[in-house]
Amino acid sequence: MKRETYDIVIIGGGPAGLTAALYAARSRLNLLLVERLAPGGQIALTDLVENYPGFPDGITGMELVNRIKTQVDKLKVPIRQGEVRGLEEDRTLKCVYVDSDWLEAKAVVVASGASPKRLGLPKESDFIGRGISFCATCDAPFYKGQKVAVVGGGDTAAQEALYLTKFAKKVYLIHRRNKLRAARILQERLFQNDKIEVLWSSAVDDLLGEGLLEGISVKNLETGEKQELKVMGLFLFIGWRPNSGFLKGTVDLDAEGFVITGENLETSVPGIFAAGDVRRKLLRQVSTAVGDGATAAYATERYLERAFHLD
Ligand SMILES: Cc1cc2nc3c(=O)[nH]c(=O)nc-3n(C[C@H](O)[C@H](O)[C@H](O)COP(=O)(O)OP(=O)(O)OC[C@H]3O[C@@H](n4cnc5c(N)ncnc54)[C@H](O)[C@@H]3O)c2cc1C
Repeated sequence: MKRETYDIVIIGGGPAGLTAALYAARSRLNLLLVERLAPGGQIALTDLVENYPGFPDGITGMELVNRIKTQVDKLKVPIRQGEVRGLEEDRTLKCVYVDSDWLEAKAVVVASGASPKRLGLPKESDFIGRGISFCATCDAPFYKGQKVAVVGGGDTAAQEALYLTKFAKKVYLIHRRNKLRAARILQERLFQNDKIEVLWSSAVDDLLGEGLLEGISVKNLETGEKQELKVMGLFLFIGWRPNSGFLKGTVDLDAEGFVITGENLETSVPGIFAAGDVRRKLLRQVSTAVGDGATAAYATERYLERAFHLD
């Protein structure tokens, strides 16, 4: 049976992949988007997005995803549910391994995003979904009237700590440093909220409980002093690790596994582009992810013209 050769296969249906699909579909390229879960990506986990232009009162992550998805559906972008497990160069074509099948493409846009980092403590995996969470929007209602802790000092940690105060009676914000990286507007809201207590220069060094999380041990990194906090929920926002395991040995990655790209978002392999949180860059946000998606699709089109004389 002869396999179809796609002009472009897009891996990942977050803001970057969906935007790349939008541009590729409008250019009438023969495309396929592969997504392992439902389209949306990390933004579907967010309560309110307040820093995406065009929505002066903010927009919920879910609503933003639905709007992008509606736009993509109007263009009849084919979406296949499946996990990409490998990517190889096969002479001029690329071979994309999806679950136990494979696809052929002239070019690929990798937009597989990133996943939250973990603390690296013993028993951490056992507590995920049993007290440890990476999504306040999903899990905050379980902690109504209880005490919870958030780890991190960036925008996401600040935003999610604020959201948790709608449910929890007390939110500890645990941060390694003695100042936050979060935007000033979020810091102002944090410091005004009397349900939030910031534990500066501190780190979680043990997880307590059997089966379900019942508390944490927190160490002050300056004094070495430890204290136990009885919290039922621990929300981790300490950075991201790229979803790039399937690219090892195919394209150049940096030491943390982020994909290295040039200005037009091409990787070390001609015809393979990367967009969004999966690539090495300064700022990982929806606005930069959609910009990357557009650039990668445009650059792919130029590549197809050059390499396959497609116009
Ligand atoms: C809690 C939280 C709050 C945030 N708040 C904001 C905010 O207020 N404003 C803002 O601008 N940004 C915010 N962000 C960041 C923003 O969500 C990301 O920067 C953005 O979603 C990145 O888009 P992406 O398409 O690059 O990757 P992702 O959103 O990570 O999407 C990648 C997609 O690829 C899929 N995928 C991964 N691997 C494979 C594979 N092997 N095969 C097939 N599919 C795969 C994943 O399932 C996922 O759907 C927040 C993030 C989080 C987690």
